[in-house]
Amino acid sequence: MRYISTRGTAPALTFGEAMMTGLARDGGLYVPEAVPQFSKAQFAALAGKPYEEIAFAVMKPFMGDTFSDDEFRGLIAKAYAGFGHPARAPLKQMAPNHFLLELFHGPTLAFKDFAMQLIGQMMQAALAKSGARITIVGATSGDTGSAAIEAFRGLENVDVFILFPHGRVSDVQRRQMTTPVETNVHALAMDGDFDDCQARVKDMFNDFAFRDGVRLAGVNSINWARVLAQVVYFVSSALSLGAPERAVSFTVPTGNFGDIFAGYIARSMGLPIAQLVIATNQNDILDRALRGGDYVTDGVKPSISPSMDIQVSSNFERALFDAYGRDGAAVAALMAELKAGGFTISQGALQMLRDTFASGRCSEQETMATIHRTFGETGELLCPHGAVGVKVAEEHLGDVPMITLATAHPAKFPDAVEMASGLRPALPLRMGDLFQRPERVTRVPNDLGALQSLVRERIAR
Ligand SMILES: *Cc1c(COP(=O)(O)O)cnc(C)c1O
Repeated sequence: MRYISTRGTAPALTFGEAMMTGLARDGGLYVPEAVPQFSKAQFAALAGKPYEEIAFAVMKPFMGDTFSDDEFRGLIAKAYAGFGHPARAPLKQMAPNHFLLELFHGPTLAFKDFAMQLIGQMMQAALAKSGARITIVGATSGDTGSAAIEAFRGLENVDVFILFPHGRVSDVQRRQMTTPVETNVHALAMDGDFDDCQARVKDMFNDFAFRDGVRLAGVNSINWARVLAQVVYFVSSALSLGAPERAVSFTVPTGNFGDIFAGYIARSMGLPIAQLVIATNQNDILDRALRGGDYVTDGVKPSISPSMDIQVSSNFERALFDAYGRDGAAVAALMAELKAGGFTISQGALQMLRDTFASGRCSEQETMATIHRTFGETGELLCPHGAVGVKVAEEHLGDVPMITLATAHPAKFPDAVEMASGLRPALPLRMGDLFQRPERVTRVPNDLGALQSLVRERIAR
């Protein structure tokens, strides 16, 4: 199994190399040369099995010989042992043909724990073999950073630096990043928005002298290993509702296109998925692109679902690569246009994307109304991201069971949830003292040189 870059010129890598590399050296993203195919019988054999077993069967064919079977089973077991629910990703029924996939039972209460806990285990295992040390640098709109810090805190061979937009993450998100006491954890509050943070991280990766000097590794959702870990719950939930004998549909609240792309991979493996619905908040570049064909950035508008406040949707490049017939030069040209503000998707590519994905958007008011109404009708308290999904899913219900991804616990966004529902969601008991712990954070400017100096200084200690 080899991985190739969406921009066509970086060298092909193994799974282990792609995981450690993150962003390809030509600026592209790694994708599998070919997606492994599962037969109906292979899927059927996994129905009713523990999450960990499904995870092993789904991911192993993508990984070559990076880990032995026993080793990989051990890493999966450790990754999910800290989850607060035996099903890991339980389904809850919302309406006759509408189900919620609860992805918030991990240690930081958002779906990112599924990938991050596993990537932490996998990177540690790979580094322990080589004795090497790496520097993780990531940008976050809130949930990636807390999940990464939780996954890497205290690991011997890793320093983890997380850039988050100052003043634009929730108190719970910020405290999850600033309260760990381990000295290998570096929480950086940057002046700017999430796109600025993501741009500076990309700049660091594109500065090869810096990248090699500090042995930079990335864990943002561009990292293929993260996408792969997220494929698992599309499979497990579909099996629970009768796949592979019957099809299911998914609605995925998304900003960076990571989670929905994992669903696309599950479908490419042969999982019968009818609709794959993209749900955006008021930062609706993906919905606009699918409807009108123009992928044009428009400035980030801060919302009550901040983890989706994104205009440059990194993983969309992976979908474009397939839509353009895997023509890396064409994708590189589009990305150059994007730097100047945007591009028009070709007719053929747009047709492919429209055949593959449906989409919808949810305004701030609609998000609040959906939290309020759902609480009244079902007693379920949605987080604002899940509410965006539920609202858009309701516009796509039909004969096929719809599964909406609930990407975070409502207690991660208590102010918005309380305003909409009248009830303040409580943190699970295991994180009850979060607001008593002291914070440790460094305020940093939106400046590449200053950030690079800080990273060099901190890892030299
Ligand atoms: C990260 C995040 C999203 C968006 O994920 P994508 O990678 O953009 O698909 C949605 N909801 C929550 C709670 C998140 O943390």
